[in-house]
Amino acid sequence: MDYELTDAHKLIRDTAKRIAKEKVAPRAAEMDESGEYPHDIFDAFAEAGLLGLTIPEQYGGSGAGFMALALAVEETAKYCNSSALILLLSALSTQPINLGGSEEQKHEWLSKSATGAIKGAFCLTEPNSGSDAAALESRAVRDGDDYIIDGEKMYISGGSVAHYVCYFAKSGQNGSKSISGFIIPTDSPGFSVPACDRKMGVIGIPTANILLQDCRVSAANRIGEEGRAFKTAMLTLNTCRPVVGARGLGLAEGAIAYALDFARERKTFGQPLVEHQAIQFMLADAAIDIEASRQLVYHAAWLVDQGKYDREHAPYLSIAKAYATETGNRVASDAIQILGAQGYMKDHPLERHYRDARQLMIVEGTSQIQRLVIARAMINGDITYW
Ligand SMILES: Cc1cc2nc3c(=O)[nH]c(=O)nc-3n(C[C@H](O)[C@H](O)[C@H](O)COP(=O)(O)OP(=O)(O)OC[C@H]3O[C@@H](n4cnc5c(N)ncnc54)[C@H](O)[C@@H]3O)c2cc1C
Repeated sequence: MDYELTDAHKLIRDTAKRIAKEKVAPRAAEMDESGEYPHDIFDAFAEAGLLGLTIPEQYGGSGAGFMALALAVEETAKYCNSSALILLLSALSTQPINLGGSEEQKHEWLSKSATGAIKGAFCLTEPNSGSDAAALESRAVRDGDDYIIDGEKMYISGGSVAHYVCYFAKSGQNGSKSISGFIIPTDSPGFSVPACDRKMGVIGIPTANILLQDCRVSAANRIGEEGRAFKTAMLTLNTCRPVVGARGLGLAEGAIAYALDFARERKTFGQPLVEHQAIQFMLADAAIDIEASRQLVYHAAWLVDQGKYDREHAPYLSIAKAYATETGNRVASDAIQILGAQGYMKDHPLERHYRDARQLMIVEGTSQIQRLVIARAMINGDITYW
């Protein structure tokens, strides 16, 4: 196990740090208020080459990998989780094609995604299937050289600003073995976005309902073989788990750093807050959780970069996702506590971090689903402690 950062990793981290400080931080509160997608932040990431980190070089990306993406996400999430989600989506929306697509699809869709010429979204969740993704009800019926797809997807991050979506639908009656994936341009006839949800946090990135009605899609846009895409969807989620963890990690770092600065200045009972042991313990607990999260997230990202994201390694990706996102929640809460009433007010970023953190324990496999993966591995003997 060697997940020492390379010079390339450090350069990417420093680039993301600069963009986060100069461009993301000043916009974070405003995009949280307006709910408008921050195209300028997307463009800044594109210009810096941060949207193609997980796309191989032969398809126009840098191939820097998931550790590089996790570092960029961590730096960004210190200030703004909506902006960090833009980076995450650069992987989530392209991984189905990267893992399961044809050479032609990779050349066409990945290269444009890597430069930021187009945006994608990942469409798995439906009104009647979230954690139990194999229960999805969207239908794809073959019609000559095309498929006719009908169905509804819910909570799709960036779905209303996407140029294409990776869409999962059943093309047979054989449960998860009937799930096929499709690349669907969002200007296809029969594709619509009836609404975006009002939500608690991560407000800068719209969460869209997607409706397909008699949507005709060329069979050339099917991702991999018919009925084989459930595994592609699950592996996509596995590879992205360390990156969701990095959203929690960065959020925790940004929140406690802000609280520490405040606690040096604010005085109670004649002393700065940092001199009170109860405050010191909250600071120390945050550091313990953050350092543990960082080891888990970096290790998990390193595993993905080694090609280790199959069933055997999945529990370690789940552990990183669960621990780091729960760290984000614990630390955001404590950071508010350190500020007292001021932490609850919109004059400070902590109430936004707290609302944003809550999303992380739900998306891309809830905390409970991560624990199912981990416990199953223990019961099956894939993880042993003897
Ligand atoms: C802001 C936001 C953005 C999202 N973006 C996307 C996106 O881009 N693409 C996409 O496809 N989806 C997206 N999602 C959907 C997300 O992936 C799902 O919400 C998630 O998978 C959980 O599904 P669910 O909400 O239907 O909850 P359910 O599956 O109905 O679960 C409800 C509760 O029961 C628990 N539970 C379920 N099954 C079990 C079990 N077997 N054992 C123990 N507990 C269980 C869950 O942990 C949860 O607490 C997004 C969600 C949000 C909130």
